[in-house]
Amino acid sequence: MRTIGLIGGMSWESSAEYYRILNQGVRDRLGPTASARCLLWSFNFAEIEELQHWGDWDALTARMTDAAQRLEGAGAEVLVICTNTMHRMASAVQEAVAVPLLHIADPTAERIKAAGFRTVGLLGTAFTMEQDFYKGRLAERHGLNVIVPSEADRATVHRVIYEELVAGKVVPASREAYRGIIARLVDAGAEAVILGCTEIMLLVRPEDSAVPIFDTTMLHAEAAIEMALAG
Ligand code: GLU
Repeated sequence: MRTIGLIGGMSWESSAEYYRILNQGVRDRLGPTASARCLLWSFNFAEIEELQHWGDWDALTARMTDAAQRLEGAGAEVLVICTNTMHRMASAVQEAVAVPLLHIADPTAERIKAAGFRTVGLLGTAFTMEQDFYKGRLAERHGLNVIVPSEADRATVHRVIYEELVAGKVVPASREAYRGIIARLVDAGAEAVILGCTEIMLLVRPEDSAVPIFDTTMLHAEAAIEMALAG
């Protein structure tokens, strides 16, 4: 089994899910006492959030590449970034280390294509929904058509992530708001919906959507297990 290096703490609410999924998945495959070989670098998310909202992506890239190199130095053989948003600097992170970085959009897109869908709705932070680093990869590398919510709905999705989910708050009224936003994505042609922020799975369940949902936290962690066990 290869050692998985997790660049996490963004937020720790979702890193805890990664840790649970990795260990449960290895147990399911290798037996009741087996667990994942992994290392976790966990940021103070308050510092990351502040830099994100200042738009200081250079400082954020420096922190991410530093974390990747620390994990590689400690023995990580596969790296995962436990957030969609911070894949904005995925190529810089990959260039900073010799070990492979498993991009969160790839196993997600592979599963969507295998299920026969081509047009997907995307929920995530404003950075993920509005900038090209994520939608562009889904479109150019995987041939998916990506629909994002309206400006007002994007603001709601973003606010719930930063004011509630990363702070460990699961608010029923916000689940209702997300249900409405998902319904509007379906009306706009979405055949499936990507939970493109690693905390949304704490709020939204399959029954909140009329179309299949693809949870990036689960799909990314499962792909990391496959990679670790293949090596
Ligand atoms: N975990 C979230 C994501 O998947 C948001 C937190 C962050 O900005 O990194 O995008």
